[in-house]
Amino acid sequence: MAAAVEISSVGKRFDGRGGTVHALDAVDLEIAAGEFVSLLGPSGCGKSTLLRLVAGLSAPDAGAVRVFGAAPDTARRDKHVALAPQSPALLPWRTVRANARLLTRVNRAANGGRRLDDGAIDGLLAEVGLGEFADAYPHELSGGMQQRVALVRAFAVGAPLLLMDEPFAALDEILRAEMRLLLLRLWQEHRTTVVFVTHSIAESVLLSDRVVVMAPRPGRVAAVETIDLPRPRGADTEDDPAFARHVSRLRHLLAGSPA
Ligand code: ADP
Repeated sequence: MAAAVEISSVGKRFDGRGGTVHALDAVDLEIAAGEFVSLLGPSGCGKSTLLRLVAGLSAPDAGAVRVFGAAPDTARRDKHVALAPQSPALLPWRTVRANARLLTRVNRAANGGRRLDDGAIDGLLAEVGLGEFADAYPHELSGGMQQRVALVRAFAVGAPLLLMDEPFAALDEILRAEMRLLLLRLWQEHRTTVVFVTHSIAESVLLSDRVVVMAPRPGRVAAVETIDLPRPRGADTEDDPAFARHVSRLRHLLAGSPA
């Protein structure tokens, strides 16, 4: 079976007035189907650029990207890959159910893809504790509940590869912790392949099978850390001494010094 993502010797540069930016240089990475992989690194190391290449939203200048063995834009058209938007951006005049299936409708309009039926959407809403709220409107929900609808919306697309670019960056720490656990649960139940961009070391350790540490100028893979914490993971995982060891190793890797 083809890997979910194959990135081979990928380079990407941007030419601007200030000169050429080497956003990515000689990046190699293979992600297996069902894996949860985080891209971790400082601003400007090429995390978003890499995600956009995998999403088929831009093309590399060197090397190749394959998604389930196909070109990324083909994979996107076939709904094998979806990029989750950063903010919830729920439409106030639509119900929770209609908001949750928004991306499936947008994709359908764009490319004739399939659409999840209401039963499947309601099932996902129930999984995140919103079963009673399918017919409610966004203003009737708390901020945390709106975030949960956004998470359901990402999974409702039904794509086997989900790309998430710092989806929780704007949230306060308490809500962020709640959303991490919810994402873990949805991923564990649906076994979607996830590529997740984050600035947070702890977040990357809690969620991931592997953490890809990136470095800037030029953007590249500096190290890959395998997170061997047992699954299923949950709120207690952070108390595992191995959790602290991974966090510490990643901190050293990010600082560019040996652990
Ligand atoms: P990250 O997501 O890790 O913060 P990015 O992938 O956004 O990093 O950016 C990597 C580098 O490429 C940065 O120096 C950024 O300024 C540059 N870059 C990204 N997109 C563009 C673009 N469309 N035009 C010019 N430069 C860009």
